[in-house]
Order: sequence, then C-alpha cells, then structure tokens
Amino acid sequence: MPRIVIVGAGLSGLCTAHYLVRNLYDAGKDAEILLLEADGVPGGKMRTIRQDGFNLEWGPNGFLTNKPHGMDLVKDLGIEDRVVRSSDLARKRYIYSGGTMHRLPETPVAFFRSQLLSPSGRARILWEPFAAGPPANVDESLGDFARRRLGTEALEKLIDPMVTGIFAGDPDRMSLRSCFPLIYNLESKYGGLVRGMLALKRERSKQGVKSEMSAGPGGVLVSFDHGVQTLADVLASRLADGLHMNVSVERIERRGDSYALHLSEGGIREEMEADIVVVATPAYDAARILAPLDDALIDALNAIPYSPVTVAALGYDAGTLGNPLDGFGFLIPRGEKRKILGALWDSSVFPNRAPDGKALLRVMVGGVRAPEMASLPEETLLSIARRELSDIMGIAVEPVLARTFFHDRGIPQYLVGHGKRLERIDARLAGLPGLHLNSNAYRGIALNDCVLQSRLTAERIAKSV
Ligand SMILES: Cc1cc2nc3c(=O)[nH]c(=O)nc-3n(C[C@H](O)[C@H](O)[C@H](O)COP(=O)(O)OP(=O)(O)OC[C@H]3O[C@@H](n4cnc5c(N)ncnc54)[C@H](O)[C@@H]3O)c2cc1C
Repeated sequence: MPRIVIVGAGLSGLCTAHYLVRNLYDAGKDAEILLLEADGVPGGKMRTIRQDGFNLEWGPNGFLTNKPHGMDLVKDLGIEDRVVRSSDLARKRYIYSGGTMHRLPETPVAFFRSQLLSPSGRARILWEPFAAGPPANVDESLGDFARRRLGTEALEKLIDPMVTGIFAGDPDRMSLRSCFPLIYNLESKYGGLVRGMLALKRERSKQGVKSEMSAGPGGVLVSFDHGVQTLADVLASRLADGLHMNVSVERIERRGDSYALHLSEGGIREEMEADIVVVATPAYDAARILAPLDDALIDALNAIPYSPVTVAALGYDAGTLGNPLDGFGFLIPRGEKRKILGALWDSSVFPNRAPDGKALLRVMVGGVRAPEMASLPEETLLSIARRELSDIMGIAVEPVLARTFFHDRGIPQYLVGHGKRLERIDARLAGLPGLHLNSNAYRGIALNDCVLQSRLTAERIAKSV
C-alpha cells in the first residue's frame, strides 16, 4: 500500500488530504494518507482566537463566493449550516484619501459621481477602451498595466490600496498575470477592461445569470459560526488518525524510488519513508526542508518573497465609539503617508465576531510599504494603531481588548517573473517523481485558490496511484 505524506496542515495541506481521501478511498484505491503539522493547532494562517467573547481572526476574514471552490468544499463536507454570510454592510468599502473617507463606488454611475478621483482622473478612466495594448512578451507589472489602461491617479488611489488589501504588496513589482489572472485575461481576450466586462455581462445574461459591473470584488464574503477556524477544525476532525500535530519535518531526502522524511516530535528525532510527498508549507519552509534534493529548486523557492503584516485587534464598547462603522472598513493609498495600511470593521461585517454591545476592528500594519512597522513591540504598535484610528475615524476611547498578531512572512509576493519561476520549479519537480508542492506561494493566495489547487494536486496524485 503506497504511503502519501503531506507536510503542513494549513488550508492547503488539510484540503489536499481531504480530496485525496475522496479521490482514493471513494475509488476503492488503497493508500495510507498522513498529514504532519509542526504546530499544535491546525489551519496555518487560517486561525480564530476566542478571547473575552470576541472571535479574533488571526489572518483571513473569510472567502468570497465569486469563485465556487470554497462553497464546493463546504457542500462536500456537509457544513452549509455552519456558514455565516456577511452583512450587506460588507459591500460598503472605503478608501481614505485627502483626509476623507470615500466610498468605493460599486457601479459605473457611482464611480463617476465619486470625489475620490479628480475630474481628469475620472476622464482618464473613461478613455480606457482606447488605451494602448499590452507590450509583447513582457510579464507586465500591475503598476505599468494600471498606468497604461487607467492612468496614474487610478493606480495611486484605487489599484494601490487594492493590492495592499490583498497582498500587502507593491503594484510596481507584482506581476499582473500571476496576481490577477482574470484581469489579465479580460484584456487579452477582449482587448480592454470595459469591453471585457460588457462582453462577460452579455454572455452571462444569455445564460440567464444576472451580473453587475462593479469596482468591488463581487460575490458575497462568507465565514463560519466560530470564524474560519471552523473549516480547519472540521477538515482536521475528518482525518482522525491520519493527522499528526506537533511533528516538524526537518528535511527530506531521496531514498531509491521513495523519500525519507526526517522528523522532530517534542525534541525526539524519527525517520519515516513515503512514496509520495506533498509539501504544503510556505515556499521558504519548503526550500529548507528540501535542501538535500536539488539546488536549482531551492533557489527558485527562495526567490519567492513574503510581506510581513501585523493585525492589531481592537475591541470596544460599541456605544462609546461615536462612529457607526457602517461598512467593511477602509484602505489607505501609500501617497497618504499614514502609519497603517487600513482597518477592517469586523463586527459590522460578521456580528458574531464581538459579544453583544461590543465592536471589533482589525487594523493592518506593515506590508512591503513599511515592513519595519510590522515587527514593532506590541505596546508601540497598539499605540500607533490607536492614534491612527483617532486621527482617521475619531475613535479616541480606551479599547476593552487590544492584541496583535504578527505574521513575519505573511503573504507571498507574486513578483514580475513569478510565472517563469513556477515553470522552473515544475521542471525541477519533473526530475523528482512523487514530490509535489502545494501552498499559497504558487498559484493564488485566496482561500478559494488554495482549495482549488489542493483539489487539482489530489487529482494528479490519485491518477498516479
Ligand atoms: C493577515 C492575513 C489576512 C488574510 N486575509 C485573507 C482573506 O480575508 N481571505 C482569503 O481568502 N485569504 C486571506 N489571506 C490568505 C490566506 O490566509 C492564505 O493564503 C492561506 O491561509 C494559506 O494557506 P496555506 O495552507 O497555503 O499556508 P499556511 O496557512 O501558511 O500553512 C502552512 C502550514 O505548514 C506548517 N509547516 C511549516 N513548516 C513545517 C514543517 N517543517 N513541518 C510541518 N509543518 C510545517 C505551518 O505550521 C502551517 O500550519 C490572508 C493572509 C494573511 C496573512
């Protein structure tokens, strides 16, 4: 019976194990499936901490239904009754610019009424259908793409905050094609964004699907009754004996046709053989573990950088805030030179994040914009976050809860050249049969992407067993 070992029980590792069980056992194929996790809690970045009646999300808030993969997994697990839909306020997203909160317009009409961009900035966007096409054979940066199609002001006030909200990254260094393949495809298939969106709207209405042209991400944001941890816990519980927590994989070597994994569990060293290995850790951990195998593979993995982010969770007595928190939260363009990246108004979006009468905000700090800020001592960081909330939102009262979550290497950055790097990684993996890499470092950072890539990885493996 082949042994398949998955390293890392973040969403990617948990889902790979889940879909392997589905694909192999349901097809009557025999295999031993083991999932090893260095930490004591499953979920990786997807973790919820319960404190004083608050549900504090360590990292992700939830996932959007604009892609089907997350909800497909939910249905597959039979946990639809545990899904919590965000309140309609989640559609109200703000950009803080020039000392004012501007609502991110959701419709073309609202967009042209909005004061976020100057009249000439808005006119430049109107000109989008006539913008120059993409340069040939270049992995264009998101910044260059936005300047070319939408103009500099749209880049600074719309695209830069969006990239901050998703990647905590720098649009001038990120690859459009790797970070936002749907936008890249709109231009390559239809010749422009407006043309592409109109064509999609027509195609959908022919299929009887109602759709809007929106500057927002689309879909509905969903989470679970006990926060995102619910999903990790359900996936972990289904694996039962196959999941081994507090087991760190130190290195992996080739041994004949199989792999030898060197493990450490509570300081005790052990060895395990596996026929198939899925490394579902961040790229930098994969590089360390796989160091004995292939130098070129390790170089390519180490070339995927990560942005550091700290989440500062602040809980308040709702009645003392003096601010209705009527939306999803706000992001800040880098030109504003503020000390925070933005804030999410968690309890407005998901009321179950705070006990009755309380409100919860999560402030984002650091990113590639200010990496040194993310690693400040907790007290300093909290006082900066509070000062910024006071300046920006007028919240000057004492919080009833204050806590930070530091993600040293939080979010992988798909820089220009990321696609070529993945080709190099795939070419090296071709020489290491049975070894697979699957995490948010490669083909999508959203929870939906992790679910999809895990399903595809499991399907590839199931075919080979
Ligand atoms: C602050 C923040 C906010 C986010 N918000 C959202 C959001 O709202 N929506 C969204 O869709 N996405 C969001 N994301 C992205 C999303 O959380 C991640 O892409 C996703 O959780 C990554 O899952 P993963 O399994 O690929 O990696 P990870 O979660 O990093 O899991 C990797 C696992 O591998 C384990 N591991 C590492 N080394 C070893 C080893 N040697 N041996 C054994 N185990 C090991 C780790 O302990 C960890 O559990 C956010 C991310 C951050 C940081």
